[in-house]
Amino acid sequence: MRRDYASEASFSHTYTIVTTTSMLADAVRTIVGDKVTVHCLMGCGIDPHLYRARENDVHKLAAADLVIYNGLHLEGKMGQVLEGMNRFTKVINASDAIDREKLRVADFENLYDPHIWFDVELWISVVESILEAIIVLDPVHAVMYQKNGDAYIAQLKKLHEYIQQRVNEVDLKKRILITAHDAFGYFGDAYGFEVVGLQGLSTDSDISTKDIQELADYIVQKQIPTIFVETSIPQRSLIAVQQSVAAQGWQVTMGDELYSDALGDAVSAADSYIGMIKHNVDTIVHALK
Ligand SMILES: [Zn+2]
Repeated sequence: MRRDYASEASFSHTYTIVTTTSMLADAVRTIVGDKVTVHCLMGCGIDPHLYRARENDVHKLAAADLVIYNGLHLEGKMGQVLEGMNRFTKVINASDAIDREKLRVADFENLYDPHIWFDVELWISVVESILEAIIVLDPVHAVMYQKNGDAYIAQLKKLHEYIQQRVNEVDLKKRILITAHDAFGYFGDAYGFEVVGLQGLSTDSDISTKDIQELADYIVQKQIPTIFVETSIPQRSLIAVQQSVAAQGWQVTMGDELYSDALGDAVSAADSYIGMIKHNVDTIVHALK
């Protein structure tokens, strides 16, 4: 007897989606609810630039029905593994959802800035493309996914307005955001901040004493009150900047941690994308206004 495996599969199979970053996983989980199994490879506090695939990750990727990664070399060490996966399963580069002319070009390299989640309007494009891909994967639950996705996008539009309102509390000339690495360029472009990172767009480079000295000089010259550490990056280099600033007679305080390339853990208020962005904005505005 011939059995109809295709229709059996659509009723009994639980799909699995694997994402690299926690921001992508949050978007997927919000859309799929409990209908799909979601694995996130790079959990809270994990630096994607330096992350290397573990054996367990390769198994998860190979068993996935859909793989979603950020792209633009965010997952530096894993890029080749991810690109190679499309021989086995459907793989989506999330940054492909954004028009190339809206991407920030890195200064001295022929590369784009990968930190696209910090401009909420750009991130909405990413969420829309994820929603489409999920519906193609599992059309049986399309109505539910569409409803969840639309509700999430409405929340993201409100988040964008929230940021615009909050940053207006900071004088234009005080809108200088100094962080451990250059993750906040899209945030700066979208919401009117000058952004200076001690390290470049990736954390995969050495920091020289010259870098530390130049940033310290800049802080003293601009009389900047606060610099910000990031949860996924060691603090020691920024502490060196702070000491160098103090040696020149200016005091710069270390602001609360910002979430740059990963969400916070479950006990933090930043364990969702919306919570992460709100935490960052509230922290920045509180320190600089
Ligand atoms: Zn980064």
